Order: sequence, then C-alpha cells, then structure tokens
Amino acid sequence: MTKTVWITGGSRGIGAACVRAFAEAGWQVAFTYRSSEERAAALSAETGALALRADAADEDAMRAAYAALCAQLGAPEALVCNAGIAQQGLFQELTDADWRQMLEVNLMGAVRAVRMALPAMLHQKHGSIVTVSSVWGQHGASCESHYATSKAALIGLTKSLALELGPSGIRVNCVAPGVIDTEMNAMHSEQTLQELAAETPLCRIGTAEEVGDSVLYLCSARASFITGQVLGVTGGF
Ligand code: NAP
Repeated sequence: MTKTVWITGGSRGIGAACVRAFAEAGWQVAFTYRSSEERAAALSAETGALALRADAADEDAMRAAYAALCAQLGAPEALVCNAGIAQQGLFQELTDADWRQMLEVNLMGAVRAVRMALPAMLHQKHGSIVTVSSVWGQHGASCESHYATSKAALIGLTKSLALELGPSGIRVNCVAPGVIDTEMNAMHSEQTLQELAAETPLCRIGTAEEVGDSVLYLCSARASFITGQVLGVTGGF
C-alpha cells in the first residue's frame, strides 16, 4: 500500500527537496506552505504532490489543511515538521513580537502538526515523525538567539515524543542541518557563506537534497530501530 507523508513548509528549499525525495521514492506526498503559491503549484505539477496553503502559526488553517489532506490521501503515516523562519538581530534588539513569531512558527507549528497527525498514528500503532532543527539549536547562535532557542526546543520535543510514543510504535527523530544552500541563507553575504564553507570540514555548504535524503531515510523502514536521534547533516560543521 502506498505510504503518505505530510511535509510542512514544502514550497521551497529543504521542504521542497523533501517533497521531491519522498515522491521519487513512491510515497504519496502532501505539503503545506504559507505564501509561495506559484512555486507550490509548480512543485505539485512536477511531483504530483498535494499542495495546501496553511500558515504553521494558524491553528485553524492547519486543521483545515490536515482535514483536506486526510480526505484526499488518507491519514499520513509520516510527518516532517520543516516549516521555519529565521531572523538575525542582537538579543537586546529582539522584541517580544519577534520571539513570539519565531516560537509560533518554528516550535508551535511543529507541535500543532504533531497534535493533528498523532491520533491516526496512535490508532495504527505505526508512524514516523521527523523535526527539522539546526546545528544552531545544538550549539547556540550569536545574533539569532530566538532562532537557536526555537531549534533547541525542537530537539527537546523530539526526544520527549520519542520516549512517550515509542511504545505505540511511533518513531520520532530530528535532522539538524548545518549551512545549507537555500533562500534562508540569502541574508548572508557571499563572503560570509565562503567563511562558513571554509569552517566546514567537507569544505562546502550543503544542498537541500542532502537534507531531504536524510529525512527520507529516517522515515523509511531502513531506519526502523532508530528513534529519539538528532542526525547532523552538517558536513562536519
Ligand atoms: P526557506 O528556503 O526559507 O524555506 C522555508 C519554507 O518554510 C518555505 O517553504 C516556506 O513557505 C515555509 N514556511 C515559512 N514560514 C511558514 C509558515 N509560517 N507556515 C508554513 N510554511 C512556512 O528555508 P530552508 O532553508 O528550506 O529551511 C527549512 C527548514 O530547515 C527550517 O525549519 C530551517 O530553520 C531549517 N534549517 C535550515 C538551514 C539552512 O542553512 N538553510 C539550516 C538549519 C536548519 P512559503 O515560501 O510559502 O512562505
């Protein structure tokens, strides 16, 4: 039987690479996104994936998207919590609104998606969840304290859910990408990107496809005894 995956933030970057990786591996794919309508439509046409507009910070929109997903493809047996935003700023310049927005999307967006996908997984006693954290969530990041905090929280969520859901046959893992070539890093100058590449043992920044393949692996039967893990996709960074 064809397996179904729900990927949040699938319209661009790492999420879009996940959409392609799962589709190529024969999964039925649904992805949610916030605003990149044309790119979502093009990716849907390219891969056959179901594209649904839903802001990860909007509970009602997420609920409606999940209902549409289930109606068209059935309940997903895998969930990839990828939707995320980044922002740079000195700690003292970040406002409560900056913190709330960061946590609403990066952390609560994942919490909401898990809450929605979980009942069907519990019923099936089977499922796989992958969160997308960051190397900055493991080590901290100067001038991105709210981003790094949101990503550290995702690791805590992943490890806690792995403990709680393991007895129900549900695996929960995390990928922690290093510096990856997506629009999220467009804020960095070419020189900064070159410096980050030079600090990376593999001497380059990574591709979205390399993260997508790791996410696919963690959701696949090949990772059937892996749960509660944080897989660094960092080139050794
Ligand atoms: P990206 O190129 O900026 O893409 C972000 C994706 O998330 C887009 O599809 C975007 O959709 C979606 N998104 C953003 N806010 C959303 C919201 N409120 N609701 C629903 N979807 C939303 O970023 P990326 O580099 O692919 O990052 C993907 C994930 O990897 C993020 O969680 C990021 O923190 C993490 N990560 C990235 C790197 C890196 O170096 N790039 C490193 C470590 C971790 P729309 O375009 O439709 O708004």
